[in-house]
Amino acid sequence: MARFPVEPFKIKVVEPIRRTTAEERKEILEAAGYNLFAVRSEDVYIDLLTDSGTAAMSDDQWAGIMIGDESYAGSRNFLNLGEAVKAITGFRHFVPTHQGRGAESVLFACTVEPGHRVPSNMHFDTTQANIIVRGGEPVDLLADEGLDPISDVPFKGNIDPRKLEAFIAETGPDRIPLGMLTVTNNSGGGQPVSMDNIRTTGEILHRHGIPFFLDACRYAENAYFIKLRDPGYANQSVLDIAREMFSYADGCTMSAKKDALVNIGGFLALNDEGLFQRVCKELILREGFYTYGGLAGRDLEAVARGLWEGLDENYLAYRIAHTRYLAERLSEERVPILTPPGGHAVYLDARRFLPHVVQSELPGQALACALYLEGGIRSVEIGSVMFARRDPETGGMVYPELELVRLAIPRRVYTQAHLDHVVDTCKHLYDHREVIGGLRYTYAPDLLRHFTARFEPL
Ligand SMILES: *Cc1c(COP(=O)(O)O)cnc(C)c1O
Repeated sequence: MARFPVEPFKIKVVEPIRRTTAEERKEILEAAGYNLFAVRSEDVYIDLLTDSGTAAMSDDQWAGIMIGDESYAGSRNFLNLGEAVKAITGFRHFVPTHQGRGAESVLFACTVEPGHRVPSNMHFDTTQANIIVRGGEPVDLLADEGLDPISDVPFKGNIDPRKLEAFIAETGPDRIPLGMLTVTNNSGGGQPVSMDNIRTTGEILHRHGIPFFLDACRYAENAYFIKLRDPGYANQSVLDIAREMFSYADGCTMSAKKDALVNIGGFLALNDEGLFQRVCKELILREGFYTYGGLAGRDLEAVARGLWEGLDENYLAYRIAHTRYLAERLSEERVPILTPPGGHAVYLDARRFLPHVVQSELPGQALACALYLEGGIRSVEIGSVMFARRDPETGGMVYPELELVRLAIPRRVYTQAHLDHVVDTCKHLYDHREVIGGLRYTYAPDLLRHFTARFEPL
């Protein structure tokens, strides 16, 4: 049997959660148009919608909140955050942003023009959308093994360097304002990217004069995976591994709501002086003055402290083992999941879970709804609802390779019994999978569809 890791913390504050009845959940789901984003959190028992902004902060972070310096310009918390960002990433400049997409929006406003293309291992949905609204095209060049839901290779988040070379040759460097890597690869299962792959990506891009940015939301989990899985790094500190990762890049976007263990915040860090000046102008327009970027001083302090906590190796060992526990228990019950598990989530493989539901009937969304109806569990579909696109030439729908349901794990929030409830619910549904049917849209917006779409059962 999988073993639950011993927590490197004890609990000081608790928040009650409520179990609803199956009849209540049926009504709630209907009213929400079968979209779990439209369900009130009070009506959710175990909330695995996202690991973003859902962390339990430490007593030290809460103490930091009390010394927020709410000055418009130059608050001490901005300086503290700047020290942490510099010490960890090594980038010369940084600006705070209200969250990760704020950093993306500002970065792409300053770099992407109509006709541009931006390669990555796999762009996250907000990254994609922020490139598209600037007239650019996000292009995913994940190595093929990352698309295989059961291959056991250690770094399934890697970009394919040959695809990247071919992409640059075909597109021409002039139309590529920057290249990116998402570490870990959220949309592809939270899978890590190897140090070799980060280094090689930097080399390829730089050889063509193209800047290289990391989408660094889960850089600490990625660094810990490198330590675990690359023997060359077994004896290095996670901090040194993280520094080396950043050393190959020219900048990063960061959602502090992930590995910086806060409920709100982010930043954009970079080396280029000219770009930094343009970023500051754009930031003032969109986010706020460059010493607060849409955040209160107290939030900046929580991010500064959380950045260091997120690199603590006792915490990271627990974090990765906590996620692995859920994956191993599900595997023991033969529930089809993506393996090996990533850092922040376990992904149910909806195509293997519900082989009788075809992609146009949205198997991932159907499974996410079933998890809620059965166990009051909120998850998120990462499949056709999130990523299917209409081909501009043929007009037909292009479906993604993977139909996943993400069970994202908030940091330091749920206990073993909570995870066991998730396992029991998944096992029950898998044993009765034939009664789960597909869905169809009753409303489908064209950008970031999954947040507001509505559905009905077929
Ligand atoms: C969460 C996330 C973002 C966007 O960050 P927000 O803080 O939600 O705006 C971007 N990229 C990745 C990989 C993410 O996980």
